[in-house]
Amino acid sequence: MKLYQMIINGEEVGHDLPRVDVHNPATGDVFASVPLGGTDEAIRAVDSAYNAFEKWSSLSTYERSDLIRNWYDLIKEHTDELAKTMTEEQGKPFLEAKGEINYANGFISWYAEEGKRIYGETIPATQQNKRLFIHKQPVGVTAVITPWNFPAAMITRKVGPALAAGCTVVIKPASQTPLTAIKLVQLALEAGIPKGVINVVTGNSKLIGEAWLADTRVRKLTFTGSTEVGKELMKGAAETVKKVSLELGGHAPAIVMDDCDIDKAVDGVIAAKFRNAGQTCVCVNRVYVHESIEKEFTKKLVEKVKLLKLGNGMTEGVTIGPLIDISAVRKALNHVNDAIEKGATLEIGGNRKEGLFFNPTVLTNVTDDMICMKEETFGPVTPITVFKTEEEAIRRANDSIYGLAAYVFTENISKGIRISEKLEYGIVGLNDGSPSTPQAPFGGFKQSGLGREGGHHGIDEYLEVKYISLGL
Ligand code: ADP
Repeated sequence: MKLYQMIINGEEVGHDLPRVDVHNPATGDVFASVPLGGTDEAIRAVDSAYNAFEKWSSLSTYERSDLIRNWYDLIKEHTDELAKTMTEEQGKPFLEAKGEINYANGFISWYAEEGKRIYGETIPATQQNKRLFIHKQPVGVTAVITPWNFPAAMITRKVGPALAAGCTVVIKPASQTPLTAIKLVQLALEAGIPKGVINVVTGNSKLIGEAWLADTRVRKLTFTGSTEVGKELMKGAAETVKKVSLELGGHAPAIVMDDCDIDKAVDGVIAAKFRNAGQTCVCVNRVYVHESIEKEFTKKLVEKVKLLKLGNGMTEGVTIGPLIDISAVRKALNHVNDAIEKGATLEIGGNRKEGLFFNPTVLTNVTDDMICMKEETFGPVTPITVFKTEEEAIRRANDSIYGLAAYVFTENISKGIRISEKLEYGIVGLNDGSPSTPQAPFGGFKQSGLGREGGHHGIDEYLEVKYISLGL
């Protein structure tokens, strides 16, 4: 049993507080704990970030870049250790956890560089005796609230650009997965990022969130999590008019056209559906297959699903770990049972194996009235439905309150672009089941969120635009 602490102003905090257990979802064991922080710790963390801001934002972007780059090197060096911690607290297979550390670290290296390209502008003036300039400045102290499905990447893709822009941060990681976050922050300190620039607070999310929302020193909130909590935070942020970035739920459609390469489409759907046991906001939640290829597509998909290996993520060869908790298992079961009751055919899986393990599932004859076609399943369930025309597929794919990721499979590239343009989604994987990458913008339309993470768009979220008008 390992006792972890919060990190505020470079110090471990919380030895004297009640503890929150951290479980291994594969075994059910409690193997670590973190302090139950609340309002006081949240405010202390803001004090620390606020005090550190002036110095950090005054460094040249090259000086900041060097320190951020040191952090990248240390994360790289500690990949296996971080991945093991992630598998223990989150459940994803060790190889996948290593993949996440590399992906997460990609945001650190990319933004270490991108900070050097925070360019201003000059604008031609109307009068001869004026000069108009635009500077970009860091927003200020940023509150970072993250979910459990990507314990490292959800942090680095916010903290990387925030730090590069010159902001300081206070982080509240998900209660289920605080350890990876704490270890990342320890490495940041070791890398020479000054005390107070990154703080991490664990504990009562409601109290911590409220304290940060009420604090006028916190100028920016960046959140990834459920649409429900995101809406509450957005309301709370309105009181002090904070800048807000939200990355919320998704309900990704995959459209499989009759002229696709079926093997490529099957691989794409497998990648986009079963990563992290179906627990990502860009996971395929519904598959629309052209009626002429449904049989062949389903047969090949089921064959590939049979090859997936469910088990403890630390066991070699395992490709799908457990779900995060019992409510996730119940939700997946509910979606499957509802679909079957309403006439769907179970092709494979459909049930809980043991503990928090859920068998990878494929359903056919799915119709739009089933829960799985409307609500995010966040589990390894693949509902397949057929369509006749391109227009029908687009209309049904767009019939959602969400608009994060969508996937299209066709070998006709003109058609692929045409469909991509009509989809009301922030990300389209065209013959690509894994489009996320640090240098590209990630974010949603509609109720999937506000703002973008990744790429040069991702750093704008942490910058204010200042216009200076000079009279000569
Ligand atoms: P998930 O379903 O991924 O757990 P949540 O939206 O419930 O999504 O949680 C995402 C993050 O938001 C977690 O760190 C959680 O602790 C935090 N959180 C949940 N409720 C609140 C709240 N009322 N105020 C601030 N943070 C919250």
